[in-house]
Amino acid sequence: MPRVADDAVRFAEQLLSLVDTGRTSSTYKLATLLALIDVAVESTDPVDGAPTRVRAKRVAERVVELYWPQSAVYGAVPGGALVQSPQAGVIPARLADWRQRHGIGSRATLDDARRVDPAGWTDLEHDLVARVLQMPIPRLQRFGDGARATERRFIFDYAWHDKESPGRLMAVEFDDWLHLQPGVGEHLVRLAPLLRPVIHSKWIDLVAAYNAGLHDVRQLDEFLFGAQRVNLDVLREPLTDLQMGRCFYCDLPMRRAVHVDHFIPWSRNPDNRLDNLVAADDRCNASKSASLASHPHLASWVARTTGSRLDDLASATGWQRDAVASAHTAAASYRWMPAGARLWSSVDDYEELDPDRIGSLLALLRPSP
Ligand SMILES: [Zn+2]
Repeated sequence: MPRVADDAVRFAEQLLSLVDTGRTSSTYKLATLLALIDVAVESTDPVDGAPTRVRAKRVAERVVELYWPQSAVYGAVPGGALVQSPQAGVIPARLADWRQRHGIGSRATLDDARRVDPAGWTDLEHDLVARVLQMPIPRLQRFGDGARATERRFIFDYAWHDKESPGRLMAVEFDDWLHLQPGVGEHLVRLAPLLRPVIHSKWIDLVAAYNAGLHDVRQLDEFLFGAQRVNLDVLREPLTDLQMGRCFYCDLPMRRAVHVDHFIPWSRNPDNRLDNLVAADDRCNASKSASLASHPHLASWVARTTGSRLDDLASATGWQRDAVASAHTAAASYRWMPAGARLWSSVDDYEELDPDRIGSLLALLRPSP
């Protein structure tokens, strides 16, 4: 065990020195790293564990998803969207342009953005994904700036270079796998809840440096990364109906304010897909906060996400669901929690984590062959 811990610490140190280099760089490096962590989390098999490779195209799509809320007009910035790099940042600028041309509100989801012009969106996303493959991914593991930068492939190996043409990168047969170095998949997934806030704070530093007059760091944090950036209100009623008017956790009839709760807490592993959202009363929602829920709650959640009723809800509301990705995110969140860790049961009541029970619940998430 100590060796694994040493490896994880060494890996985290290298990763942090990577985000520390290049003070004058854009936020692309941070976005790519965050996207890689998120994709590793959503690729964690409930039984086999962390992935050994991930697709670069999925990482690039995730980069676009991360920039989407950030491309809205930020109240305190004259002229609208935040500046994200010393040169013109293509991805945030093109997303901001899309918003402006289609009149899309600041709390709209990426699905909303797609719906206004599906064909146009496909073209835009194609361009942006190609850009991430061409630039930030081959440059991610470079230490230092400019000509003296050296690449050390300690996170992943891959089969192209940064001069590759967009046409070739986006060809169907192009090999876009990122082959994670031994142990790295598990490090990324286990360290995710610790690395994410560190990367967020570096990102906030850069944005504050490129945009004069931003002093309210908490407000900026919420704008760039907050759970409230997507309006979940439309799901309150449909989710309550799905639960027969009862709270997902205490099973009592909803009397007061209904909250849409992230079953896997947003701060742990952000997931706004329908599978991760439940209706809870205000007492349970406030008490659970950023905790993972207890075994019986996990069992109810597994039954819900593997059942069929969420499909109807997804088509009725148009809200995106991805049972596999959400199951993987849940697996990534629970799988490496130590025995005896505190899981939230009910208001002021916790139970100790039992790895065997967690293991058998997670096994139910795996689609039958
Ligand atoms: Zn409740």
